[in-house]
Amino acid sequence: MNEAVPRPGRLSTPVTAEYWRAAAEGRLLLRTCRTCGHRQLYPRSMCVRCWSEDLGWHEAAGAGTVWAFTVIEVPGHPAWRSMTPYAVVIVELDECPRLLSGLLEQRAYDVRIGQRVRAVTEANGDPTGPIPYFVPAES
Ligand SMILES: [Zn+2]
Repeated sequence: MNEAVPRPGRLSTPVTAEYWRAAAEGRLLLRTCRTCGHRQLYPRSMCVRCWSEDLGWHEAAGAGTVWAFTVIEVPGHPAWRSMTPYAVVIVELDECPRLLSGLLEQRAYDVRIGQRVRAVTEANGDPTGPIPYFVPAES
């Protein structure tokens, strides 16, 4: 029944296009400031530390730690209803930036703060293509 509700999908802009192109190839990119070295996610047009617009890209190893999470039982959009309960996580990557994403391949109620995870890119039903998710590091 709710499979008929399409997902809204992600938004690609000139600032995020390279990030999504890499995700489609299975890579996770971080925005890196060439002025102060700060690495950040999500992709923005300027550094949040020094406001420089001289930014490059760094390919992340994809390893990180669950910094925070919540379990979604009532999704904000009906397209995700069939997936409930699912975990939304904030992962602190080993390269420092934190990324809001989902955790796959694990029961939502078994997620733990400090749990090691690794990035994967999955379409996971998204009509616009693969996006970064996380799975337990040992899987
Ligand atoms: Zn900077």
